Amino acid sequence: MRWTEDLQRALSARGLTVASIPGKGRGLVATRDFYPGEVIICQEPYASAPNKVSAGSSCDGCFASSNIRKCSACRIAWYCGNACQRAEWKLHQLECQVLAALSEDRKKMLTPAIRLMVRLVLRKKLQNEKVIPTSETDNYDLVNALESHISGLDEKQLVLYAQMANLVKLVLPSLEIDLKEITHNFSKLDLLSTDQLEWIEPDSHNGAGTGVFTVPGTEPQVPAAAPSVDQDRGKGVAS
Ligand SMILES: [Zn+2]
Ligand SMILES: [Zn+2]
Repeated sequence: MRWTEDLQRALSARGLTVASIPGKGRGLVATRDFYPGEVIICQEPYASAPNKVSAGSSCDGCFASSNIRKCSACRIAWYCGNACQRAEWKLHQLECQVLAALSEDRKKMLTPAIRLMVRLVLRKKLQNEKVIPTSETDNYDLVNALESHISGLDEKQLVLYAQMANLVKLVLPSLEIDLKEITHNFSKLDLLSTDQLEWIEPDSHNGAGTGVFTVPGTEPQVPAAAPSVDQDRGKGVAS
């Protein structure tokens, strides 16, 4: 598969390779020695969302919670300043139209997990349309290739993910939504036992946001306003 070759090429330059670990999906393996403190890899999440959607009080870009301003069009996204707003704009421009069109009742359905999946679907669309560029380490094929945990789910959990997929469809009425694909995606993020879902924490145990990382087993790149990552819940291998 092409995504595998592209990803392996990008990683081998950094002394890394991806290997399949049974039951766990892909994992990152070092092909050379790394020194203590050496950065192994930095990666932006494929999609991310702050965890305080209903309270509406952290920046979409860096999850900072002070001196932030609300997007006046959708009144859901918040930004700490122009830099984060600009960095998020290609995705938010489309998301903003979607969110602004929602009724107040529908807006209440936007839990962090739903918003994360909405953003993931929209980013896929924008990459398909080449509005947002792709790279060997940033493309939807890699999201597709994340290990699905659907076969290990009990029926209750399966129904919950299917209902969440349905909410995503309700938020995105103008898009062709494949409910099965979205249900699988929720299982990949596996909100209960996180393998691919990374928690980025600024300074406390209140998770500031969640992101989907496509290169497995990597330490998330922490935005400047978020000085530390919870090692218990982060699945990094950099230490
Ligand atoms: Zn910010
Ligand atoms: Zn907006």
